[in-house]
Amino acid sequence: MTDNLVQLLPDAIANQIAAGEVIQRPASVVKEIVENAIDAGASEIELTIKDSGKTLIQVRDNGCGMSETDARMSLERHATSKLRTADDLFALRTMGFRGEALASIVAIAQLEMKTRRAPDDLGTRILVEGSEVKIQEPVAAAPGTTIAVRNLFYNVPARRNFLKSDSVELRHIRDEFIRIALAHPEVRFDLYLNDRLDQALPAGRLRQRVVQVFGRKYDEMLVPIQEDTDVLSITGFVGKPEAARKSKVGQFFFINNRFIKSSYLHHAVMGAFDDLLGKETHPFYVIYLEIDPARIDVNVHPTKQEIKFEDERLIYNYLKATIRQGLGRASIMPSIDFET
Ligand code: ADP
Ligand code: MG
Repeated sequence: MTDNLVQLLPDAIANQIAAGEVIQRPASVVKEIVENAIDAGASEIELTIKDSGKTLIQVRDNGCGMSETDARMSLERHATSKLRTADDLFALRTMGFRGEALASIVAIAQLEMKTRRAPDDLGTRILVEGSEVKIQEPVAAAPGTTIAVRNLFYNVPARRNFLKSDSVELRHIRDEFIRIALAHPEVRFDLYLNDRLDQALPAGRLRQRVVQVFGRKYDEMLVPIQEDTDVLSITGFVGKPEAARKSKVGQFFFINNRFIKSSYLHHAVMGAFDDLLGKETHPFYVIYLEIDPARIDVNVHPTKQEIKFEDERLIYNYLKATIRQGLGRASIMPSIDFET
């Protein structure tokens, strides 16, 4: 009689379980495949959404593309071109590195990929369903990669039923789109919703991107901030007090171009505005911190919105001082440490 009960899970099931970590909703798919396009060096990215991502999420990029073998490999779990050694983890410049996104997506959706490297004559088309490759064939294609994700959670009814209304899911998608667009003003983005062009964001400078995303009236309300030290650099904009809102929308931190949430750093900004704002209003800001990757740990959670960094206190103080200086220079607040 055999008493052994422990078995390895089949890949398809293991991936489906792992997918729960990475892919919560259509917006998670948008984040992962748009970030892949950024990592591929794309200068133009087109996002197409149907039925708030429940039937189609498609991303077309003009990035580096993949060879036939890489295209196939990219769908495997822990398959990545971005991390080779453990040391690389402390010098990350890419958005991805886990090699989990595509493997997770193919476990819970139908995925079609067309990809071509510029020097190759032909590209590759792959169709996958339930982690199984159904078709792989050469195809004529423009350089770059197009990934279409159809019928998310089609094989996980419980997850599909838990999706929220179209308007809620679409709001999450817009949130991701805006974060990535703000992190990369040098990239052109087009967003199509149900075949209608919803947003066209031509490549430009940061100020232009902020105005494209939030509206022309912000042009008058942006106060630039800027600081460079040997530990970090800070750039971006805070809104004048009249841009502040009661609701907590319009707060963006990016560390090394990665959107993060940080109530600690938010507190530093609030401190800088001090009594310039009425009670319970939140300043508008889009703030970019550049920190040596060795000093931060992005490896805390698959969705990577939280980050741990050394010298928290120091960064807090620099940030607050930098904003005060910016507000002082814009004559919004008397500044004791203004530069001449
Ligand atoms: P990660 O981004 O963590 O490496 P993914 O599962 O998101 O893992 O992607 C796996 C690999 O597939 C990437 O490392 C990259 O080499 C390749 N890849 C994915 N999307 C693209 C793309 N749009 N253009 C070129 N290569 C891509
Ligand atoms: Mg990725």
